[in-house]
Amino acid sequence: GPLLSLADVGKRFANAVTALDGLDMQVRQGEFLSLLGPSGCGKSTALRLIAGLTDPSRGQIMWNPSEAARQSIGFVFQEPTLMPWANVFANVHLPLKLAGVGRKAAEPAITEALEMVGLSAFHGAYPRELSGGMKMRVSIARALVTKPRLLLMDEPFAALDEITRFKLNNDLLDVWHRLGCTIVFVTHSVFESVFLSTRILVFRARPGRVSAELSIDPNQTRD
Ligand code: ADP
Ligand code: ADP
Repeated sequence: GPLLSLADVGKRFANAVTALDGLDMQVRQGEFLSLLGPSGCGKSTALRLIAGLTDPSRGQIMWNPSEAARQSIGFVFQEPTLMPWANVFANVHLPLKLAGVGRKAAEPAITEALEMVGLSAFHGAYPRELSGGMKMRVSIARALVTKPRLLLMDEPFAALDEITRFKLNNDLLDVWHRLGCTIVFVTHSVFESVFLSTRILVFRARPGRVSAELSIDPNQTRD
């Protein structure tokens, strides 16, 4: 069965904005799923619901009981939000540190995560010394360091120039293959979604609901 399902999910905020109205979608094991649609159609809200960062106003989010993915989620936001006073190594250490893993025990995982995003030479650098693309790489390494089963990404590359973005797209595909995780990727770029995904859910304009589904390469999923 699917990794998780959203059934008739609605989300209405306190200010009476209805972000989602009857969203039905599934995330399949091992796929690279893009949520595509114009700004404001509820993509981020759907991602935040999956992450458990907010609760639905109606409907259900059901996790596959045989999957531990719910306990193993990495989240990458559009803004890298690194700690400016800490170097790259310490920034990537953070999720493990919060889980009680000390610097020394965490070092192999941190080294591997930084290697996956091409930042092996930058352990000691500080965020202010890095370009936007490199900061995003650190942010991805931080999400990968716990080896999540499910990686949720909310327009991670939207603020980057086109060439940097294309490099990061390629590197993200390598990470996905290497880690063998499931990715749900929010974007409003048709090109990016077609380039990256095995499947695309096209959201219609508000209130959010899936209006079309596009399979790019279903053979790539690890069902
Ligand atoms: P997208 O990611 O597709 O741009 P969002 O999920 O961010 O869309 O937002 C969908 C709608 O819900 C928008 O109108 C947005 O302004 C509104 N919205 C999002 N978050 C909140 C919030 N915390 N409180 C009130 N309205 C919100
Ligand atoms: P993006 O378009 O990059 O998704 P948004 O401007 O929609 O960014 O949202 C940025 C943040 O502000 C999100 O955390 C969202 O939940 C919140 N937000 C968006 N719209 C509203 C709103 N109308 N009222 C309160 N919070 C909002």
